[in-house]
This record gives sequence, structure tokens and C-alpha cells, in this order.
Amino acid sequence: MEDRYSRQILLPEIGAEGQKRLAHSKAVVIGCGALGTHSSSYLVRAGVGSVSVVDRDVVDTTNLQRQTMFEEADVGRPKAHVAVEHLKKINSTIEIRGMHTEINSNNAEKIILGASVVVDGTDNMETRFLVNDVCVKNGVPWIYGGVVGVSGMVLVVKGDGPCLRCAFPKLPAPGELPTCDTIGIANTLPGVVAAMEVTEAFKIMMHKDHTEELMILDIWNQEIQKIRLKKNPDCECCGRHNYEYLTASSRK
Ligand SMILES: [Zn+2]
Repeated sequence: MEDRYSRQILLPEIGAEGQKRLAHSKAVVIGCGALGTHSSSYLVRAGVGSVSVVDRDVVDTTNLQRQTMFEEADVGRPKAHVAVEHLKKINSTIEIRGMHTEINSNNAEKIILGASVVVDGTDNMETRFLVNDVCVKNGVPWIYGGVVGVSGMVLVVKGDGPCLRCAFPKLPAPGELPTCDTIGIANTLPGVVAAMEVTEAFKIMMHKDHTEELMILDIWNQEIQKIRLKKNPDCECCGRHNYEYLTASSRK
């Protein structure tokens, strides 16, 4: 039987050696909404050895417009449970785990430690700052991805910076940033941004060079900008190693 991964092993960018590395890697997808449904599916189809999906929500009718893994019959069911069922049907040869839980400062290190890479599928900056803290502190590479309206962003955070908080030092005040709930979202956007995130995840799992710039995509005008970030020596996270989102006990 032909190897199910033959079409990507043919790629010089991946090859047999890269495929072996993917098979020995562990990816954790935090958030299983529009980004997470796409990215977990790509990771599982590519043969990443272990894929975990963490999400606190249940499927809502308004999710069906863009969260391609879910169907009408799934409304009201935990996304993490639906995702595992779906992903196991795609690839039964790898390890797939779902966690129906909210990631917080108490469980974040337990969820993330041991991962080869973390892929962001969350919808808020507070959770991303927590993931940033855990990953920078423990040397776990992670990929930030954000989508709203017709624009998306992707940034790989690896090593000692620049990190997400070099780009966004402060948590935005409630209502300060537009969200999908307030300004909407094009349903074609998350698939593209998730594909960009997972492509970077592949490079990290295969120990290859990743894209270092912050990528900003406009799906409507079909434009991608790349912005080179500088590490901020006063960054609370990667500069001062003050992991305030991880250590603050008052936080959830
Ligand atoms: Zn930083």
C-alpha cells in the first residue's frame, strides 16, 4: 500500500526525514474555533505523532459559518469532544487527545509541557499572554494566530524572543480591540491563517528555519505584509522574565 504521506514526502521541504520528525512530534492546539478546527485537521492529516486539542466551549449555531469541523447536530456539544471524534476518523494511526477545559494559570504548564510546538487557536489576548508566558519560560515554541474581520496575523515565538508581548506589551482594555462578535469575520480567512500557522509549526517540528517576521494578512485585498520585530529588552515576559500571567494567583 502506498504511504498515506507520500505526497508530502515527495516535497523537498519535508522528505522522508521530515516526515519522521513529524511522526515523533507533539502538537498542542489551544482553542478549537475557526483557527483550531482547521489547524488540528492539518496537523492530524500530516501525520504529526500526537495532537491535543484544548477548548472550553460548546458548539454554537453562529460557529457553523466558519468552523468547518462542526455540523448542525453538534450544536451544544463540547468542541473538544466533537473535534476528537472527527480527527480520529481522519487518522487512526496517531495519538489524538481532546481536553474540554479552560486553560488557566493552574493547568497551563501541565497542558503545554512536553509539546514540540503550540498552535494558537484562541480568541483573546489574555489567554495568549498566558500561553506566551508558559512557552517562553519553558522554551516551548508557539505560534500566535489571530483573525478578525478580513485580516489576520501570524507570529512564531521561539527561543528568548521577540515574543508576543514585544509586539503587544499590554493587555487591551475590554472593548478596545475589534472581535468577531463586534465586527464580524470573513469565513475564508481562518483557513488561510491556520494554514500559515501550521506551515510554521511543520518547520519547527522538522527543526528547520521558521519565518521570523510578524505576518499581517488582508484576505479581501489579498495582501501579506511582513514586519520584522525587535526584542524589547524591557519586555515583561522575554526581557524581564516576569511571567505575570502565569504566576498571578488572582487570575483565572
Ligand atoms: Zn518579549
